[in-house]
Amino acid sequence: MKGVLEWRLAAWVWRFGEHEFMGFSIAFSNEFSYNFSMLEFLIAEVPKTRGELEFELQRVRGEIEIRELYFSQMAAELQRRDRNEDSEVSDKTTIDWLRHNCRMTQQAAADRIHVGEKLAAMPRTEDAFYNGLIGFQHVAVMARTAVAVEEKFDEAALLPLAMKYSPGKFYHLSLRYRHTVQAKKVAEEQANLADQNFLKLATSEDGCLMVNGVFDPVSGAAIRSAIEPLAKPMGMHDYRDRPKRLADAFFELTTKNLTVSMQVTSSMETLLGLVGAEGAENEFSVPISSKSVERWACDSTLSRIMLKESVPIDVGRAERVLKGPRRRALMARDKHCQWPGCERPASWCDGHHLVHWINGGETELKNMVLLCRRHHRMVHEGDWQLVKTDEGYAPIAPSYFSPWLPRGPN
Ligand SMILES: [Zn+2]
Ligand SMILES: [Zn+2]
Repeated sequence: MKGVLEWRLAAWVWRFGEHEFMGFSIAFSNEFSYNFSMLEFLIAEVPKTRGELEFELQRVRGEIEIRELYFSQMAAELQRRDRNEDSEVSDKTTIDWLRHNCRMTQQAAADRIHVGEKLAAMPRTEDAFYNGLIGFQHVAVMARTAVAVEEKFDEAALLPLAMKYSPGKFYHLSLRYRHTVQAKKVAEEQANLADQNFLKLATSEDGCLMVNGVFDPVSGAAIRSAIEPLAKPMGMHDYRDRPKRLADAFFELTTKNLTVSMQVTSSMETLLGLVGAEGAENEFSVPISSKSVERWACDSTLSRIMLKESVPIDVGRAERVLKGPRRRALMARDKHCQWPGCERPASWCDGHHLVHWINGGETELKNMVLLCRRHHRMVHEGDWQLVKTDEGYAPIAPSYFSPWLPRGPN
């Protein structure tokens, strides 16, 4: 190995607090080096005080980072040889070798190759690294930028930022820098990324929809801007974790203001929720529970429900539909979801029948209340009850849900 690569005796000073640590990276043979590290590991005592522990963590991190730089130089050398041996070979070959044999991610492997390649073009960065002013991740971002902007790379413009900010923040700033020197190329890259957007929809065995996709940064930011405000905790008794809140927000966003023209075939027994009734059917779903059919029918989300006997129940009949002046009156009265603590605005809400029209309830204001999609679902499928009190509405948890929650208005 010696002689092929310049195996440098590196000295660096790692400064922190009042301490100063001087370390040396010495060219041991691989075997000796390994034994040496293992020996150090075995005889090491866990530092006793917090100060000693912090000192040791930073000392070891410094050693690892120096080794990372050495690794990067060898990775770049491997790539140089791969290229020399076969002019057709792509950079990906070396990256793949590193991925499989050194068990690294693609980005980590590419970063090391780029650091090794670009180190000579970044002498001040290398100095700052050996002086402990920046870490290896900063050097990797510098190298990534140098590869991207090629001859426009200006080490002096970036190094002060690397010394000031964390690697994550520095990466963000390096993208800004890239835009200043090659706006057209950045725009092209973003457009290329947008061309690669995809969304896969699949149905699992239990009928759930599985969503998997990738969006370019700009589309992704727009989607997040739309979905994040809807994914905040809402109302009393919101015990959902963030993934659950995001899923609910995604559903809410994609179905907002939609008249879902979904045809469901159901028996009258299913619609009435009678014991022994089979599930309703829809082309995209496994059999649907009568509770869900009941909720959809509550605000006439379904355009129509077809009975098994092919007799359509027109859920759009005037007296059941909450449209026009009656919907506007309900929106003006309630303004937002009436679940205590929930302020999802009226345009995002369903009109819920306190007594369902299936059971003879009227589509009149006194029998209606605005509920957002989540709280509407909780009432129909979740067996929560909403009781009208002098102060508004009080939710009552189903008995099996949480024994510690109130069983009456509180
Ligand atoms: Zn309802
Ligand atoms: Zn609500």
